[in-house]
Amino acid sequence: MNEVERFIKEQIRQNGPISVEQFVLIAASAHPQSYYAQRNPFGGHGDFITAPEISQVFGECLGLWCVDVWQRMGAPEPFRLVECGPGNGTLMVDILRASRIRPLFSGAAKVHLVETSPRLREMQRAALAGHADVSWHEAVEALPDGLPLIVVCNEFFDALPARQFIRLGERWHERVVGLDANERLCFSANRDVDFSGLMPEGLRHVTEGCVHEISAAATRAASVLGAKLRANSGALLAIDYGYEGPAVGDTLQALRAHAPCSVLSAPGTADLTFHVDFDALALALRQAGAQVWPLRDQGDFLLELGAAARTEVLLGKATAPQAEALRRALTRLTSPEAMGTLFKVLCASFPPALVPAGFT
Ligand code: SAH
Repeated sequence: MNEVERFIKEQIRQNGPISVEQFVLIAASAHPQSYYAQRNPFGGHGDFITAPEISQVFGECLGLWCVDVWQRMGAPEPFRLVECGPGNGTLMVDILRASRIRPLFSGAAKVHLVETSPRLREMQRAALAGHADVSWHEAVEALPDGLPLIVVCNEFFDALPARQFIRLGERWHERVVGLDANERLCFSANRDVDFSGLMPEGLRHVTEGCVHEISAAATRAASVLGAKLRANSGALLAIDYGYEGPAVGDTLQALRAHAPCSVLSAPGTADLTFHVDFDALALALRQAGAQVWPLRDQGDFLLELGAAARTEVLLGKATAPQAEALRRALTRLTSPEAMGTLFKVLCASFPPALVPAGFT
């Protein structure tokens, strides 16, 4: 049994079952041996692959979007270029490389990374060694005010913990993680409290066993970022897989070595994610005073930003195997059968006169 599992079981023995939210928080990031604290999850040898790792074209397109929105903001110098959950730093490296078409942009950019994992911070530090002005924060709340900002988040919100509520009889109860008769971790429901009052209107009468998820961490982060846009001006892109709620479904998923695995087995050794509730994020951003644009599919958005044209340029210098990989990557990022429609792009900005590219 690993340290994280031992810790979780001890908690349950002492205080009773823990919420799914607490379980994910401990397994993913809060324990010193947690998943993000200990591992480099990305790429072929890791547990999952994200868009910036699939192709440099992804980050380059976002880089051009950032430069464009910066110009529409009046090219402020300096400004903050923020990334939440930067993984191993690839996306920020690609953004900064693409932005060199406007040298003033990279000169003016104060890079701020929001990252909890000490291990990933080190990887980000190494990846961004060539860029002078980089600082790290534990949480979006710590981002300083006073300068306009451009924020990018790729697969950040899906990594934040959520509570799960399950419909049983006429009531909604919180889904929890406890111990079964053999002292193994198991899901159950805390029937002591009825959360029906917390459920969205549309979900009051769903069928037995349906699950609804609420991520206070995601809503809080969106709300803080919205308030920062409102106070300092700027724009935000959040790319993730998810739905426009309110929806039912248990979307908690564990991935190890690119294959789904049991959520409760060997906690801290698999990537845990939820699908993102884009309605909840949009509402939080809007309530904080930011303008929120209609959600877009990743595929259309990247193609509009020139992903195919950029791939063509790279093909001109590629060997045959590289060319094959570039074409496959473009398809994977943009086609509806792959990530093209599964992944969505949420954009928020302020002031209202600022219209970011792709959201006219
Ligand atoms: N954006 C990267 C990595 C996505 S994985 C990519 O596209 O490849 C999720 C990232 O969010 C990791 O860097 C992880 O350490 C970070 N993370 C997870 N929980 C976090 C939290 N509560 N606060 C800040 N960062 C967090």
